[in-house]
Amino acid sequence: MEATRKVDILIVGAGPAGLAAAIAAREDGIESILVLEREHNPGGILRQCIHNGFGLHRFKEELTGPEYAQRDIDRARELGIEIQTDTTVLSVSHDRMVSCINRNGYQVIEAGAVILAMGCRERPRGALGTPGTRCAGIYSAGTAQKFVNLEGYMPGKRVVILGSGDIGLIMARRMTLQGAKVLACVELMPYSSGLNRNIVQCLNDYNIPLYLSHTVINIEGRERLSGVTVAKVDEKRMPIPGTEIHFDCDTLLLSVGLIPENELSQGAGVKLSPLTSGAEVSDLLETSVPGIFACGNVLHVHDLVDHVSNESFKAGHAAAAYVRGETAAYEMLPVKDGEGVRGTVPQRIRKGAQDAIDLMFRPSGVFRNATCVVRCGDREVLRRKAPIYTPGEMAVMTIKPEVAATLDAPLTVSIERSDS
Ligand SMILES: Cc1cc2nc3c(=O)[nH]c(=O)nc-3n(C[C@H](O)[C@H](O)[C@H](O)COP(=O)(O)OP(=O)(O)OC[C@H]3O[C@@H](n4cnc5c(N)ncnc54)[C@H](O)[C@@H]3O)c2cc1C
Repeated sequence: MEATRKVDILIVGAGPAGLAAAIAAREDGIESILVLEREHNPGGILRQCIHNGFGLHRFKEELTGPEYAQRDIDRARELGIEIQTDTTVLSVSHDRMVSCINRNGYQVIEAGAVILAMGCRERPRGALGTPGTRCAGIYSAGTAQKFVNLEGYMPGKRVVILGSGDIGLIMARRMTLQGAKVLACVELMPYSSGLNRNIVQCLNDYNIPLYLSHTVINIEGRERLSGVTVAKVDEKRMPIPGTEIHFDCDTLLLSVGLIPENELSQGAGVKLSPLTSGAEVSDLLETSVPGIFACGNVLHVHDLVDHVSNESFKAGHAAAAYVRGETAAYEMLPVKDGEGVRGTVPQRIRKGAQDAIDLMFRPSGVFRNATCVVRCGDREVLRRKAPIYTPGEMAVMTIKPEVAATLDAPLTVSIERSDS
C-alpha cells in the first residue's frame, strides 16, 4: 500500500476512548493527530445514552451521555485536533498503514502510532440459538435505544427484556417512560450483569420484575412477535419443565452481551485475549504489535465511561512517548487471573516502571464481604476488602508508583471469599 498522507498518531474511533487518547497525546505536544470516525458525529455510543449517571468519578457531576461526550469534543476542538467523520477505517496493517474510505474516496495513511478505539457491538439473536419463529419485533437493546432516543421511533408497546446488562436495564426504564408496558426482565444467571444502581433505578422504581435464573425458551408470532415463553433454569442453565411462564408481548429486547469490535485489530496481527475478546496489552496499553495501542470498549467491556477515559488518557500518553522514541525497553512481567477473577487488563506490566498501574477485571461470580488480593510472586502487594464483588461491576486495583517500582515477579489477582 502506498500512503497518500503521513501522521504521527492515528486514532480509530471518536467515542470517549478515541477522544481522550487524542486529547492526552496533543497535551503531550504531538501536533500531527488524526481521529477517524465512521459516524456523522463524534461521541460514540454516548450520543444515544440520554440518561444521566455519567462522569461521577471524573467530573464529580452527574451528566447525561451526550453532555459527557460534549466535554471531550469541545476540548478536542479547543486543541485543534483533526476529527474526520463519515470515514470508515477498512484495515490497519502491522506496520501501521491505515486504509479508510469516505465520500472523497479511498485513502491510505501512514501512522507513527495507531490507537484502536472502535468500541463494541451487541450480541445478536443469532448467537443465542433461542427456538421460535423469525418474526419482527426482536431488537438488540442498543438498537431500540437508538430508535427511541435518536430517531424518535417506538419499537413496541408490550415488552420483555432478555438479559439484565446495563443497556437492557436502562431500556426497561426508557420504554416505560415512553408509555410501553415492560412485563419482565429475564436473566439466565442467578445474578444481574448490570450495575446495582441500574437495577434499583430502572427496574425496582418502576415495579418491573426481574426473573433471575430464567431464560426465553420460545419466541412466537407469524409476522410480528405475539409472545414469548420463559422458564426457570437449573445449575447447568437448562430449562426446568413445569416452570414455564407465558408473556403476550409485541417486542423482545436482547441485552445479552457486548463484543469488542476487533476485526481491524486481528487484521493488524494483534494478539487477542480469549477472556476479554480484546487485545492483550501492557500497562502502557500497547498491544502485541509495537506502536499499536488499544483502549476503551474495544479492549475490554467497561461498566463506566469514566474508566474508559482514564484508560484512554494513558494510551494517548503512551502513544505520544512511542512516536517520540521515548519508550524505554523493559522486561515484562505477566499478570494472571487467580481465584474468582476473570480477564485482568493489562496482561503484562513493565518490571521496575515507576507509574501507578490500574489492574481491571470482572469478578467471575458474586462475592460478598470478600477481599481482592494482588500478589507479586508470593509477596502480597495490595489488598482491598469490599462488601460485594460482582461481574456487573468492573473492579480496579491501583498499584501505587512506589510499589510498582518494586515489582519483580509475575502478578496474580484473586478474590478471597469469606462468604458468597
Ligand atoms: C446503553 C448504554 C448505557 C450506558 N450507560 C452508562 C452509564 O450510565 N454510565 C457510564 O459511565 N457508562 C455507561 N455506558 C458505557 C459507556 O457508554 C461506554 O463505556 C463508552 O461509550 C465506551 O467508549 P468507547 O469510545 O470505547 O466506545 P464507543 O462509544 O462505542 O465509540 C467507538 C467509536 O468507534 C467508531 N468506530 C468503530 N469502528 C470504526 C471504524 N472501522 N472506522 C471508524 N470508526 C469506527 C464507532 O462509530 C464509535 O463512534 C453505557 C453504554 C451503553 C451502550
